[in-house]
Amino acid sequence: CKWVNRVSIEQAELLLQKFYGYATFRPGQRKIIQSILAGHNTMGIMPTGGGKSICYQIPALMFPGITIVISPLISLMKDQVDGLKQLGISATYINSTLQPHEIDQRIEALRSGEVKLLYIAPERLESERFQTIFETLPIYLVTIDEAHCISTWGHDFRPSYRSMAERLLTLPRRPLIAALTATATVDVRDDIANLLQISPKHIFSTKLERDNLSFYVHRDGQKREFITQYLRDHPGQTGILYCSTRKEVDQLHRYLQEEGFPVAKYHAGMSDLERNRAQEAFSYDRIQTIIATNAFGMGIDKSNVRFVIHYNLPRNLECYYQEAGRAGRDGDRSECILLFSPTDIQTQKYLIDHSEMTPERKTLELSKLRCMVDYCFTDECYQQAFIRYFGNDHPYTCGTCGNCRKKLGEAEDRTIDAQKIFSCIKRMNERFGFTVVSKVLRGSKNKRILSWGLDRLSTYGIMKDHTEKEIIQLCHQLVSNHYLTLDLSHPSVPVAKLTPLAIEVLKGSRRVLLHREEIRTPMVEPSRGSL
Ligand code: ADP
Repeated sequence: CKWVNRVSIEQAELLLQKFYGYATFRPGQRKIIQSILAGHNTMGIMPTGGGKSICYQIPALMFPGITIVISPLISLMKDQVDGLKQLGISATYINSTLQPHEIDQRIEALRSGEVKLLYIAPERLESERFQTIFETLPIYLVTIDEAHCISTWGHDFRPSYRSMAERLLTLPRRPLIAALTATATVDVRDDIANLLQISPKHIFSTKLERDNLSFYVHRDGQKREFITQYLRDHPGQTGILYCSTRKEVDQLHRYLQEEGFPVAKYHAGMSDLERNRAQEAFSYDRIQTIIATNAFGMGIDKSNVRFVIHYNLPRNLECYYQEAGRAGRDGDRSECILLFSPTDIQTQKYLIDHSEMTPERKTLELSKLRCMVDYCFTDECYQQAFIRYFGNDHPYTCGTCGNCRKKLGEAEDRTIDAQKIFSCIKRMNERFGFTVVSKVLRGSKNKRILSWGLDRLSTYGIMKDHTEKEIIQLCHQLVSNHYLTLDLSHPSVPVAKLTPLAIEVLKGSRRVLLHREEIRTPMVEPSRGSL
């Protein structure tokens, strides 16, 4: 069996050279391909840009029958198939954009053995026609791309994906199955493996970390200022600005245009024509910056994206990792920046609360949102945070993210300021967010502060010598250092609460040493280019 494997992988590598012009497989690809060639149901978890397509395309060329690729991206199927044809690989697709007679022609071509790869959307599998295809055509391998869509634990669950997977297992001639995804937590991985009967021996997860990406979280709230400065500091670089709503896209687009930046926009509220135009302008480098909702980018294969900036908080870390991961596919150094503001937490919460999800699903989504918020305040390497979230626990420090750089700063004793903040929060009965806390500490004459009687607190005005921004920044740092937490259960704003560590500080039994946050964002060090 070992011998067969060795011969197969050598043959596979020859095909890689012949069709794709690459000399060798990447280590992750080799293991996945070996496992598929040896006839095992296999799961591959590889980051975006890791090279998942080749993992099933090469076996497809080697197997005697047809390989079906289940993909949710109808809009990309044509491009994927055209790309394969250019390489000299015969492939076709069937989806709802085709007329019935075109579908018949394609099935005929499949029957004649001309075509090796067939791309379809899972919905298609539910029709009777596909039942017949599976029963009459020599389907050898079924690849499930974006396999996390199978799992109810996943961030992008699609019922048709799951029912399709269940149907595959009931076929009289059961094909080999390969499930591929870029993002899978342990729960999702286990769920897929159980459903598709994949043994743990045949699950391969390549390293999640992307050495060429530098992650940052920018928390000071001056989002527009940050973006204009960033665009000025990085002229000519290609980047994506993600917003969470269409309205935000429109507003930011208008603002940046008024500031004189050539920018495109993309969201589901635009016509097909407008969207295609924007996508093409971006793909062909006619425009460098695109502002978009998450409707943009699924499967975008643009290699030279130098930065991805999230103007709003993403829904969860899976989405964030996937969207940010569109930067730097060519391996050159690129930046992924998240602009945090507490009001975005409320937007995401609102979207979850008002969605049509089941109550259980909502609870799950809220816990994922919690992890997303924790990420914004973590003080560990951001890539290490992803690694932990996705269930791998090997130690890793990228050395280039906001946190890895920040730690170079000196530690200062901030006990007195921290005590002021903690006692203020305590006196306010832990019922307010950082904006109100900082206004009280500053002694603000804001109407609401006065009408709530917060000016009568003994902590009112005890940090007059600091700006509101400085106090909020310090509060954020205290969250990162586990003295404070943000309670997301409050309906209107995330509420600041003290942790047991803060109580110790108030009692005088603990001192607060904080690193000076000297290097917080890439703004300090623009245009580093490829390191
Ligand atoms: P994914 O689907 O995992 O996001 P792709 O399959 O689109 O990634 O591959 C990403 C890029 O890496 C593509 O440009 C692809 O041609 C390239 N690539 C894949 N495998 C190899 C390899 N063994 N050697 C060099 N480049 C590769």
